[in-house]
Amino acid sequence: MVNRPSWDDYFLGIAKVVSSRASCPRASSGCVLVLDKRILSTGYNGAPVGEKTCLDIGCNVKDRHCVRAVHGERNAILWAEKYFSVKQLKEATLYEYYAAHSDESVKNYYPSQDSVESLDFFPCKPCKELMLDRKIKEVICQYGNGIIKVYKNYHIGEK
Ligand SMILES: [Zn+2]
Ligand SMILES: [Zn+2]
Repeated sequence: MVNRPSWDDYFLGIAKVVSSRASCPRASSGCVLVLDKRILSTGYNGAPVGEKTCLDIGCNVKDRHCVRAVHGERNAILWAEKYFSVKQLKEATLYEYYAAHSDESVKNYYPSQDSVESLDFFPCKPCKELMLDRKIKEVICQYGNGIIKVYKNYHIGEK
C-alpha cells in the first residue's frame, strides 16, 4: 500500500514548493488557497508583476519589513478573487509555508511549539486584515523549523 500523505501534508508540501519562487532574501512564503480539497490559487512573496525584485535591486526595508515584496497570502487571495466569489473564499483554507532567512526573522516570526494558537503571532498585520476582511476560514502554516500551527477565529492583534 502506498503511503499517502494527509490532505494537510499534501497542501503544505505544495506550499513549500510555491515558496521556492519567492524573491525576497529575508523570507520565503508560499501560500495555497484551498476549497473542497482543490487549489483555487497560489501565491508567494515577490515584487509585483513586471517590477524588479529584491534579488535584482535589494530589499526596501521599512519598519523592519521589506515592502518591495507583495506577500504570498495577499497574492493568493487577490488572484483567487479574480475567479471566485467572496462567498466561496469564505469557506477556503489558506495553507502556508513560511521560512525566515535571518536569525532576527527566526526569532521574531517562528512560534514555539507550545505557543497559543492565535493569529496575534502571524507575521504581518496587513495580510491578517485582508484575511479577516475576506473571512478566510482557517490558516494552516508550517514554519521553516517544522512547527505547524492552525489559526482559526482570528482577530487583529497588536503585533
Ligand atoms: Zn525583500
Ligand atoms: Zn503579510
